[in-house]
Amino acid sequence: MEETKQFNKKVYVETMGCQMNKSDTERILGMLSHFGYEETQDPKSADLLIVNTCSIRQLSADKAYSAVGVWGKWKNEERKKELEGKPFRDIKIAFCGCVAQQDKEKLLKRFPFLDLVFGTNNVYELPDLIKRINNNERVCATNETPKKFTEGEIEAKYEIKRAKSLNAWIPIMEGCDNFCTYCIVPFTRGRERSRRPAEIIEEAQKAINEGFKEITLLGQNVDSYGKHLDAQKDYDGRDVTLANLLRDLNKIDGKFRIRFVTSYPTDITDDLIQSVQECDKVCEFFHIPMQSGSTEVLKQMNRRYTREEYGQIVKKIRTAFKNVAITSDFIAGFPGETEEQFEETLSAIDEFELDYSNTAAYSPRLKTRAAKWTDKFIDEETKVERLARLNEKNRQACIKSNEKFVGRSLEILVESYEEKDDNIILAGRAENNKIIHFKGDKNLVGEFVNVRVTSASTWHLRGEIAE
Ligand code: SF4
Repeated sequence: MEETKQFNKKVYVETMGCQMNKSDTERILGMLSHFGYEETQDPKSADLLIVNTCSIRQLSADKAYSAVGVWGKWKNEERKKELEGKPFRDIKIAFCGCVAQQDKEKLLKRFPFLDLVFGTNNVYELPDLIKRINNNERVCATNETPKKFTEGEIEAKYEIKRAKSLNAWIPIMEGCDNFCTYCIVPFTRGRERSRRPAEIIEEAQKAINEGFKEITLLGQNVDSYGKHLDAQKDYDGRDVTLANLLRDLNKIDGKFRIRFVTSYPTDITDDLIQSVQECDKVCEFFHIPMQSGSTEVLKQMNRRYTREEYGQIVKKIRTAFKNVAITSDFIAGFPGETEEQFEETLSAIDEFELDYSNTAAYSPRLKTRAAKWTDKFIDEETKVERLARLNEKNRQACIKSNEKFVGRSLEILVESYEEKDDNIILAGRAENNKIIHFKGDKNLVGEFVNVRVTSASTWHLRGEIAE
């Protein structure tokens, strides 16, 4: 592209939040590389500083504001040099992701040194937006719906500069129609929309050709993939579902793994479970946020299942797979949650033998329904105390889960190594996402190895290469 010659600049991106943001960052870096921007890990040397934000929790938004504040100071120092006639760098600062989608122009007002605010629906307009800020315009681009692209643009749209790792993140759908009462995603990422299967398969094939050993299909609600696509047109008459997509991806040649996150409990169909059984490359791993163990709280959260229904789905999955791990997410201190209801969450972790859970104290998010229930808010002290008990329960569940695997052999994808007391300690993951440490040769990084589990600790397993 001819623009490549116009710039010779460095870009630093600070990414917060979920895998979807990490994946957006890879696409942002891919696009910018065509315009002469080289990625740097050193923010002080960057000409363009971007913070890709997450609005799920206030803490993450605050971290983004603070990063931008520091960058603003650097920019002012450069301005001073310019005014004094000294050599200076023309630093540009951009704010993107979910907080940008939510706060829009307010951010330009709050941070006078900010050049660009772009939302989750504007990522693919970045080349144009960058040209505008390089012409000293201050821009806010936060469309409520994604722009329609022409054929040629679509090609550029999915340019990716992947992070150095064995895993390639591939978004297959975005947005959510569920409107859980605590969640900001439908407001920041919009309604559900799915990418076409052919486009996803091509991207996966390319990643495998480039040497990636794992692909992870991403979506806020990944198992409702295809809901809004036209079956006849997109899939030779077959339904466009995650199950069928997995079957097609499984046909790509080579040794690699396929994962998918995040699942909504009642969107896990029998056909999806069957497809995971059929496809040798698809991992025996399900991340299924439950959020609360109390049916009453689930109702208040607008989750479309009861405690019992969640249990039935978990049971089906456990029956289908020998080494499966099922992980979850839980919120402590949702508005109106009683002590008894909170205890139902603790007992759900035991009853469903959840292998690991992400936990968080409830944090009100603007625009969501639950944020308006201020009269039902749980005081901070109680929330902190419940979160601590939830974390302790999770810790106990992890050790119990890890102990189940002692004596079993698991196939491990080796991800890294560490030199310790004259030994090389390799670290890798099993299909079920369990982390395992074992002695071996550092040349095994990137390879699949069979490992026998010899012992378990809270957060990882230890083992030895199986004969
Ligand atoms: S399912 Fe609920 S929690 Fe998950 S993204 Fe959609 S609205 Fe948010």
